[in-house]
Amino acid sequence: MKIAFIGLGIMGKPMVRNLVKHGNEVWVYDIKTENIAQVTKDGAREGASNADIVSKCPVIITMLPNSPQVEAVVLGDKGLLAYAKNGSVLIDMSSIAPAASQEIEKACAQKGIKMLDAPVSGGEPKAIDGTLSIMVGGEKALYDQYKSLLLQMGGSAVYCGPIGAGNTTKLANQVIVACNIAALAEAMTLAKTSGVDPQLVYEAIKGGLAGSTVMNAKAPMMMEGNFTPGFRIDLHIKDLNNALETGAKFGSPLPMTAMVQQMFMTLHADGYGSDDHSALAKYYAKVSGTKIGK
Ligand code: NAD
Repeated sequence: MKIAFIGLGIMGKPMVRNLVKHGNEVWVYDIKTENIAQVTKDGAREGASNADIVSKCPVIITMLPNSPQVEAVVLGDKGLLAYAKNGSVLIDMSSIAPAASQEIEKACAQKGIKMLDAPVSGGEPKAIDGTLSIMVGGEKALYDQYKSLLLQMGGSAVYCGPIGAGNTTKLANQVIVACNIAALAEAMTLAKTSGVDPQLVYEAIKGGLAGSTVMNAKAPMMMEGNFTPGFRIDLHIKDLNNALETGAKFGSPLPMTAMVQQMFMTLHADGYGSDDHSALAKYYAKVSGTKIGK
């Protein structure tokens, strides 16, 4: 398949490599031109601009930071709508606001371009392995048509409902992960301030009801004091802002999300925006005076 892929960051690069491995002709572009060479050496083809690659390919995949970037790439002067051929398909795999997906899809439909929103969970390791969890919104028939393509990058691709439903599902995921990490940091700080070794607490409880994928991934990082991303705090702030905006739109209260968003904002202000989100441990260190780990 001939694919235009826009956005070659932490996630986009390994996703492109998997598409190339599956025999696709993948044309790539990123405003950070240094990212382009990192995938052309693995078989992707260099485009001159977003406009150049979308005019060449019937399938366009975007993997960009947030709604404003996707809007600029699709709706902007030199964007996809101006250059993509009628009948093209846009699969936006960025994590953006569901309302933005719906607006973008409407604009695409007027130009004869179909769209799926298909954000992912799993981070860079699963992007490299091609085992991302993909959550998809849009017309069911379009999902059926492109499911096998999505599975070249993912271990699962679940249909969640009409356009925007993929991103609503992703917001639910991000709320659960953020609140879990905060609860973990809070509980481990309690253990430490009470004089019990957090490592022993982790060993004792990880097989019980409190155990989780989040605990197994993030408790060791907190104990090591290793906050190399992973998933950056600034990206999680973006997702929680999108969740709060969506909650406000539909009248869904998100008190826990709002609280964790404020903790992340405090960390951002302290200069930790590029740390892994497990650095919520640093917020608890600040307010308790006690570090969980090293
Ligand atoms: P990133 O910031 O590393 O990459 C985004 C890329 O988009 C950058 O290389 C940037 O230069 C490029 N870009 C921005 N504007 C552009 C434009 N106008 N034209 C072309 N390229 C442009 O981000 P990432 O970590 O790869 O994440 C991408 C998306 O996936 C985000 O929505 C993020 O929330 C989501 N996500 C990330 C992870 C993760 O662990 N990093 C996990 C799941 C989902």
